[in-house]
Amino acid sequence: MRRLFYRGILADRVVIEGADAHHLMHVMRARCGQELVVVDDEGSVARMEIVGFSADAVHLRLVERFDADTEPPVHIALAPCLLKGEKMDLVVQKAVELGAMEILPVESANCVVRYDVKKREARAARWQKIADEAAKQCGRSARVIVHSIRDLRAFLQEMQAHTLIFCYENEQQMPLKESLRTREDSRYAILIGPEGGFSLDEAEQVTAAGGVSVTLGPRILRAETAALAALAALQYEKGDLGS
Ligand code: SAM
Repeated sequence: MRRLFYRGILADRVVIEGADAHHLMHVMRARCGQELVVVDDEGSVARMEIVGFSADAVHLRLVERFDADTEPPVHIALAPCLLKGEKMDLVVQKAVELGAMEILPVESANCVVRYDVKKREARAARWQKIADEAAKQCGRSARVIVHSIRDLRAFLQEMQAHTLIFCYENEQQMPLKESLRTREDSRYAILIGPEGGFSLDEAEQVTAAGGVSVTLGPRILRAETAALAALAALQYEKGDLGS
C-alpha cells in the first residue's frame, strides 16, 4: 500500500496538497475508495481512504490508526562530506533505509565539489526528495530530514548533544566496535570525509570538539562505502539492524 508523509497531524479528515496530491491524481491516477498509509509529523501512522478530489487536492478519511513504529531506538545523524557526482544520492538513499534519522551534508577542506548558494539549495532539495522516496519505499514512520549544506565548523557546533563518531582514515588505535562497547548514548552522529579525506588540522578540530576518532579497519574505504558501513555497524551494535 502506497505510503505518504503528511505535513501536519493526523485527523479524521485530511487534505493532501502539493506534489503528493499531483502524484496521486496524475501519476498514480488514484480513485475514491483506494487506501493509503499516511504518516504524520509526529510519527503517527494510519490507513486512510480516498473520499474525494478537488482541483489540486486529495481528500482522505481516516480508516484505522495503527502502531507501525519502524524507527530505530537510537537517533543517528549521518554527516557525509560532499562527494562528487551522484554518490551523495546513493548515500542519502541507503542511509534512510539503514535508519539514519537526519542527514547533514558537510563542506570540508578537501571536498572536490564547491556549490554556489543556488546550487546548494538545489542539491539539498534533490537529496530531500530522494530521502522522502526512500522513506516511503522502506516504510519509515518518520520523515528523514536532509539539512542544508554547512561547513565543518558549523557542523561541530551543532553536534554538542550527540556522541560524534569521527571515522578517520589515519586513526590507528581505536576500532569503531571498541569505541561503542561501553557507550549507552541515545544520540550519535557519524562524520565521514570526502574522497580526499580530512586534513590534519580538521582532524584536530573534530577531536577537540569531542569527536571520537575511530578506524573502520585496515582498508581505506571509498567515502560512500565508509558512510554506509559505519551506519550499518552502529545500527547493528546500538540500533535495530538485524534485530
Ligand atoms: N584520501 C584518504 C586517503 O587516501 O587516506 C582516503 C579518504 S576515504 C576515501 C574517505 C573517508 O572515508 C575518510 O575521510 C573517512 O571518513 C572514511 N574512511 C575510509 N576508510 C576508513 C577507515 N579504514 N577507517 C576510518 N575511516 C575511513
